[in-house]
Amino acid sequence: MVADMAEEHAIIVDDHASVGLPERWSPSSLNTFLKCPLSYWWQYAQGWRSAPNAAMEAGTLVHGVLEDLLALEPRERTVEHAREAYRAQSAELWERLDPRVDADDLRGRAGVALTNYFEVEDPVGVEVIPDGLEHRAESEIGGVSIGGVVDRIDYGIEGVRVLDYKTGGAKPRYAEGYWRQLLLYARMVGDAGIDVSAISLMYLGDPARVMTRPVPPSALERVGSELQQAAEARSAYDEQSQWVARTSGLCKTCPFRGVCPAWSRSPVPVPGSSDSSRALDRSREVDRRSRSPRPVPEGDGA
Ligand code: SF4
Repeated sequence: MVADMAEEHAIIVDDHASVGLPERWSPSSLNTFLKCPLSYWWQYAQGWRSAPNAAMEAGTLVHGVLEDLLALEPRERTVEHAREAYRAQSAELWERLDPRVDADDLRGRAGVALTNYFEVEDPVGVEVIPDGLEHRAESEIGGVSIGGVVDRIDYGIEGVRVLDYKTGGAKPRYAEGYWRQLLLYARMVGDAGIDVSAISLMYLGDPARVMTRPVPPSALERVGSELQQAAEARSAYDEQSQWVARTSGLCKTCPFRGVCPAWSRSPVPVPGSSDSSRALDRSREVDRRSRSPRPVPEGDGA
């Protein structure tokens, strides 16, 4: 089945190897759930993650370099100091780099992003709030716990601003999720007593650009409601071991499409069954995190 329009399919899953759902949400886990609950289940209940790749590692590297650069005094935030930070950060990265990652691709992506950074912003003029780099934010919204790490909180023209770096170019299909992520950060930061006036996406791929939006209270309310509704839906799916697969154009890049009953053209094993998990084990696109499986309730283990 190939679908560009979103369609929903109820899928029964086998939860015997589930590691249990996380108590705390994050903006990215909420985005994953809203795009496709079954994909969320594979990642967060079953512990599968996208295998390391050049784009992901370049993102980590660039975030680290910009954090080091902006931690310096404004006049020291030069291209030369960015190069030094790149050398220090990449030395650590090469030590642990997964052999499946194309190192030349990674270097190319990081080089483009850091060159573009100096074109879209003069770091000398950036005024970061105290503890505003890689800021840990958390909150409880309507009884639902959420947390995450904000790339940067600074003083923009509009007042306090929450900013996220994207090391790729602007892709319209991901934009809604990115803005939702920033609004949730603004809400968490606001709950901690810092009023946020604006949110910005800084795209560092080609073409590089910064997009900024205001933060109306209605938007903060809306993302809070989305989180609460998602938490309720997740509980219902988990209770019934039946999750919704939401097919859309995003399926084309989903690492689970080869074993997804809603996407595959031919019958596939029940998600979570040993056969389904073996197929994912053979895939180069995902790795499984080593966590203890969910304990089997008494009387249920025969
Ligand atoms: S292939 Fe599509 S429907 Fe299936 S899990 Fe992935 S995103 Fe969801």
